[in-house]
Amino acid sequence: MTNRVLLLGGTAEARELAAALVGRPDTMVVSSLAGRVADPRLPLGEVRIGGFGGPEGLARWLVEHAVDALVDGTHPYAARIRSSAVLAAGSTGVPYLRLERPGWTAGPGDRWHRVPDLAAAADLVPRLGRRAFVTTGRQGLAAFLHLTGVELLVRVVDEPTVPLPGNVTLLRDRGPYQLAAERELLLAHRIDVLVSKDSGGTYTMAKLAAARELGLPVVLVDRPAPIALPAVAAEVAAALAWLETVLAPARPDAPPTAPADGGATVGVPADGGQPG
Ligand code: NAP
Repeated sequence: MTNRVLLLGGTAEARELAAALVGRPDTMVVSSLAGRVADPRLPLGEVRIGGFGGPEGLARWLVEHAVDALVDGTHPYAARIRSSAVLAAGSTGVPYLRLERPGWTAGPGDRWHRVPDLAAAADLVPRLGRRAFVTTGRQGLAAFLHLTGVELLVRVVDEPTVPLPGNVTLLRDRGPYQLAAERELLLAHRIDVLVSKDSGGTYTMAKLAAARELGLPVVLVDRPAPIALPAVAAEVAAALAWLETVLAPARPDAPPTAPADGGATVGVPADGGQPG
């Protein structure tokens, strides 16, 4: 018997989980990406790209592909797909797990200012500094573009689609980031305030350590409001343990799994994808 797992991805943890599942003879995993990033880091195994069409579309996909378990490993700030996944799992009865890394915790020396959303972050920036390093991503960038009297160094993966005013310096890059380089960047641009989401994990954490070392204030945008989730794992090992409880056990003579059909699927070689 082959277990079919749909893994909603876009995070390092989701890629790690996909890598742990692809080698299993009894399990067929399809990772799903939104298609926001032009050149995404692809997980190992089968990948489909693009939205499902809301909770109903996702529910249809789960039924049509006879999915046995749905793991939502999307980013902590991806609130719409999170809600879609809960609704689709509820309406189809497919076992559901949210894989979500914990947020960061301030330590000695941190000067964090927590704010509820990007608009509140933009309001606070001019009161804390004149040269802000904005790392909250391309999608919410517009929230900062009305600011005057503040230079903005904006780090994004892909080119923003909105026109950028003269006080914005764009930096195209993607993590993981290291402390020495982050410190150098803050110093080189004479940054006096950092703006970040509370993404958690180690990939983008170095900027917080660099800000602490330099005594800089950090504006930290809170995660979206929590919703009721049927099951949550904070790390990949816990997600694997949960899958053991909901999937049928492997037969010793189970043949290798065949790829699922349909949809905009992209085959990835067994050694493929990019690291990180
Ligand atoms: P979102 O606002 O929650 O999702 C918007 C729509 O994009 C969803 O309704 C869904 O479309 C589609 N979608 C999102 N994730 C998908 C997935 N993994 N597979 C298929 N469709 C997906 O999400 P977002 O904040 O735009 O983030 C998009 C993706 O980027 C997520 O997969 C997330 O893991 C990743 N990401 C987000 C952030 C962030 O800060 N938000 C940071 C790093 C990575 P339909 O309704 O049509 O199904």
